[in-house]
Amino acid sequence: MNVASILHQKGRAVTTVSPSATLLEVATKLAAKRIGAVVVVETGGRLGGIISERDIIRALATNGHDCLSRPVSEVMTRDVVICQEADTLDELMAMMTARRFRHLPVVTDDSLVGIISIGDVVKHHVAEVEMEATAMREYITHS
Ligand code: AMP
Repeated sequence: MNVASILHQKGRAVTTVSPSATLLEVATKLAAKRIGAVVVVETGGRLGGIISERDIIRALATNGHDCLSRPVSEVMTRDVVICQEADTLDELMAMMTARRFRHLPVVTDDSLVGIISIGDVVKHHVAEVEMEATAMREYITHS
């Protein structure tokens, strides 16, 4: 299982915001779409950063609710780790575990073509483990 096949099942839509969107706008979008992070895209389509619910919680805890009117650009993570369509499920799990984040934008030829969350990774990992267990049970039953 690789990123391309996960995207084939879940689709390639990515929720994005501009760097000037406010934290309140981002929080509203995260709640409406029931997601944990949005990708920040600059004018011209360049990947500018990523902002997750954790960044908003941290900003609230540090600066109070006044921060909700501040722009995303002040809070987002600029150094975004991305993945590619050929990356495997195991590689994604290793990246997310080592770096302690739950979202990986997918980039092909400098274009944003999808996003993989830890929910996607767990779902497909469980499916793989279940398939292996079924195959093992069948092997034992018929041998
Ligand atoms: P998350 O676990 O995805 O909610 O994110 C935890 C922290 O890691 C937040 O500060 C995010 O901005 C940051 N983060 C999330 N995904 C990435 C990524 N792909 N590359 C770099 N930083 C990230």
